Amino acid sequence: MLSIVIPVYNEEGLIDDLVNRTVSALEALVTEFEIIFVDDGSEDGTLQQLLNWQQKYISIKVLSLSKNFGHQAAFTAGLEYATGEIIGMMDGDLQDPPELFMEMYRKIKEENFEIISGKRSGRKGKNSRNFYTFLFHLLFKNIAVIRNMENTGNFSLMKREAVDALLTMKEKVRYLPGLRAFIGFKQGYIEYIREERIEGEPKMSLSKLFILATDAIFSFSRFPIRMTLTLGLVGTIVFMCAGIYVLIAKLFGFAIIGWSSTLLSIYFLGSIQLVSLGVVGEYVYRIYKESQNRPLYFVKKFYNGNDIK
Ligand code: UDP
Ligand code: MG
Repeated sequence: MLSIVIPVYNEEGLIDDLVNRTVSALEALVTEFEIIFVDDGSEDGTLQQLLNWQQKYISIKVLSLSKNFGHQAAFTAGLEYATGEIIGMMDGDLQDPPELFMEMYRKIKEENFEIISGKRSGRKGKNSRNFYTFLFHLLFKNIAVIRNMENTGNFSLMKREAVDALLTMKEKVRYLPGLRAFIGFKQGYIEYIREERIEGEPKMSLSKLFILATDAIFSFSRFPIRMTLTLGLVGTIVFMCAGIYVLIAKLFGFAIIGWSSTLLSIYFLGSIQLVSLGVVGEYVYRIYKESQNRPLYFVKKFYNGNDIK
């Protein structure tokens, strides 16, 4: 059994294409499969459209969440409900072509990989979004403690063992591509050019994308806290030297009363302190999130075909 998890949020314009392409790609691949659409609290006709399809195909299941929890939570929900021996994750806007599951599946079956992720060797379309993504991956590659995961996203196919391992990590602040790279196992890649979304606007707003990027960095890198420490140390050394200079100047009587140096050092120290406080705040916020220990999502209903006679 092959399970594919697809989160969707306000995607009514592309559900039909999505279902058609995914179903035909999977039919060409295996006889038994399930597609779990996770409706992440859509406010438009997405859920109704999904339910219409679900009435037609026994292999389509719809997990309806109680509100919008964000696509990392939606993927997690889908993975928890998936029953397959091999499980895939795919965005719902066809930026990740479902036809590629064929090659991923072949690699898992024939080359004994446990995880195959899609690596974007390029992105179609010129927009600021792609540029930000490029910058993120460049930064992340250099500061993250996990290796070899640059330019991979959620698009992947995993064996049951890997998904079970992934799901044992209950952290609330989650970056699934990072967690997937973290668990080990034999991991492979297929390269592909990322398409533009076939319809509508991205449902991850730029601010959501930015939060995801900071979650990734704070979860998988010591860079932010190291940076504040380094800044603090550099500041200390600079101001120790300045202090010695001031003392000597005082001693030999050539101290000039200068407001610019005073002002500059106040601004400099003040901003370092604020940045450091902000970084510490980010960690405290994340510790707080984890300690609240709220569930990642709530399910309104799981339409798994049992209602169809
Ligand atoms: N999505 C979701 N919940 C959200 C935002 C997005 O389930 O809060 C879904 C969306 O419908 C799409 C996938 O997650 O299927 C990726 O979203 P999007 O295309 O906006 O992100 P990007 O391609 O920029 O990563
Ligand atoms: Mg997209």
